[in-house]
Amino acid sequence: MYDNAVLPPVRVVSCWLVSDLRDQIREKIRGAGLRCTPGRVAVYEALLHATQPLTHRDLVAHMTAVGVDQATVYRNLVDLAEVGLLRRSDLGDHTWRFEVPRADDPEGGHPHFVCVECGDIQCLSGVELNVPRARSLPRALRKKDVELQIRGLCDNCL
Ligand SMILES: [Zn+2]
Ligand SMILES: [Zn+2]
Repeated sequence: MYDNAVLPPVRVVSCWLVSDLRDQIREKIRGAGLRCTPGRVAVYEALLHATQPLTHRDLVAHMTAVGVDQATVYRNLVDLAEVGLLRRSDLGDHTWRFEVPRADDPEGGHPHFVCVECGDIQCLSGVELNVPRARSLPRALRKKDVELQIRGLCDNCL
């Protein structure tokens, strides 16, 4: 039910733009203290173009076509998440999903809308949870160290 995450079609951009983007990615990865391997750049680039958070399996389907194997994809996802270049979320099905954090994300990342019928996931950029100061709240919630998801029917299933 959660298998329908797709990567958008490859965009037609000039070679100059593509290499410019790769340079920026390499700089980001190096800046985070990681080595710049082709697999790592490819994983990050694929997620940069994705319109929703993707699982390891979603990415493997895409990456094996460009010669990056399953174990390498996994290791790179973990490494990139550890240094904060990727955000990792569990949206209720005990599967990690990865995405590139956005510049306008609130502290703790943006929430997600999950369709209870088809499993489609939408990033709710710009939506923020405001937590009132109250002693009785769990510490994780006060620190906004929580995963926020809203469940309902997506436009297609409504
Ligand atoms: Zn739906
Ligand atoms: Zn998202």
